[in-house]
Amino acid sequence: MNIQNNLDKLRNQISKNVNIVVVSKTQSKDKILEAYNYGHKEFGENKVQELVEKHSILPKNIKWHFIGNLQRNKVKNIVPFVYLIHSVDNFKLLDEINKRAKNVSRVIDCLIQIKIAQEDNKSGFNINELDDVMKYSKTLENINIVGLMGMSTFTKNQKIIESEFTILSKAFNKRKSENFRILSMGMSNDFNIAIDKGSNMIRLGSIIFGKRN
Ligand SMILES: *Cc1c(COP(=O)(O)O)cnc(C)c1O
Repeated sequence: MNIQNNLDKLRNQISKNVNIVVVSKTQSKDKILEAYNYGHKEFGENKVQELVEKHSILPKNIKWHFIGNLQRNKVKNIVPFVYLIHSVDNFKLLDEINKRAKNVSRVIDCLIQIKIAQEDNKSGFNINELDDVMKYSKTLENINIVGLMGMSTFTKNQKIIESEFTILSKAFNKRKSENFRILSMGMSNDFNIAIDKGSNMIRLGSIIFGKRN
């Protein structure tokens, strides 16, 4: 696997208005630096501990995205430096991020994660809760909801993936006039479908680094 070649290939293939978050979970410092030195500055992690460690040893101008299940008692560890939290999936988490952000005088950009997949192990708000979530978020001064995130069902059936991404895309387009600007959907196995359905932020790991151990 050649990280630089893989990044080149993706950049040539993908429209400039689609942002690539390089998902660096489980990857070594050296591998991340290879992508960084090649000009890539946005990385995504799904574990707080791992993110905090990597943030402390890697260049300070990296934009760190948090993309995993976020426990409330760990919010304080990432709030001082995180660039974007993709995975806000409950009201209490909103409260906690807001409180901790206030403590460090930051306003944190967040995405609302919506459960579009038919799998119990994928989290997120129900799409029907979105109006309430948005109404509530407006009362929180240290959180800025800038869009939506979702993960499709792990399946070879493209029709299922298409219909799930379409649900998210419609909800996003309805709220573009508010603060919405980021639609985070698409991973190594389904990013082409996601872009076709309107994604402007894709989260790619294995297609860049190779299969994770
Ligand atoms: C691991 C992960 C990815 C990247 O997955 P790949 O299939 O390696 O591209 C994207 N999003 C989330 C939320 C992840 O946990």
